[in-house]
Amino acid sequence: MSDPNSVPNSDPAPSPAALTAQSPAAARMPEILRLLHAEYPDARCELDFDGPLQLLVATILSAQCTDERVNQVTPTLFARFPDARALAEADSAEVEEIIYSTGFYRNKAKNIQNAARRLVEVYGGEVPAEMDDLLTLGGVARKTANVVLGNAFGIAEGVVVDTHVKRLAGRLGLTTETTPEKIERDLMALAPRAEWVALSHLLIFHGRRVCSARKPNCPGCVISHLCPSAVL
Ligand code: SF4
Repeated sequence: MSDPNSVPNSDPAPSPAALTAQSPAAARMPEILRLLHAEYPDARCELDFDGPLQLLVATILSAQCTDERVNQVTPTLFARFPDARALAEADSAEVEEIIYSTGFYRNKAKNIQNAARRLVEVYGGEVPAEMDDLLTLGGVARKTANVVLGNAFGIAEGVVVDTHVKRLAGRLGLTTETTPEKIERDLMALAPRAEWVALSHLLIFHGRRVCSARKPNCPGCVISHLCPSAVL
């Protein structure tokens, strides 16, 4: 870990009132979590899905695309191709047409169908609940696997690091890393495992609503007093 501030220590935790934006990341993290939980009690995965396969497909579709847009196409896709076998055997042109509006549709269709074929051939058509198995599916990297494990299986294997989590973790001084794998490792060290799934939801909610890429609303931010990047 490159940020010495983010190393948890055994000192007694400071009271929330004593925390500042310059406090060590490990000391700030519980209060950041508490305040974001209070602000976003309904924070959750915003992709619509029914079961692990639908979430896997929706997550593949969400690359470079809004969840709202993905939610517009998945009902049609899942009605037409309701299981892994149907997706594996589908005419790729038909899949591409349905998912066209999510962008990168050729690549996404290929990834979805490669994953579906492997699910049929190796896993009896079911999505496996293991990180190592998920990573063998076409087009599934650690972020997608974490989304599926955390939200469809309730398994906290890691922290989802998307563009919002990456941006907020940096602004909040929770990491100095820039690659998703290293950012994830730092966040996993700072937050208790029971919070790993919620942490990414909370940061994504906050990133979408307050701490946007272009114009963060620091005066309206409930964790501004704990943020070294606050502009007030
Ligand atoms: S204070 Fe500003 S930069 Fe920091 S988390 Fe809040 S909105 Fe983002």
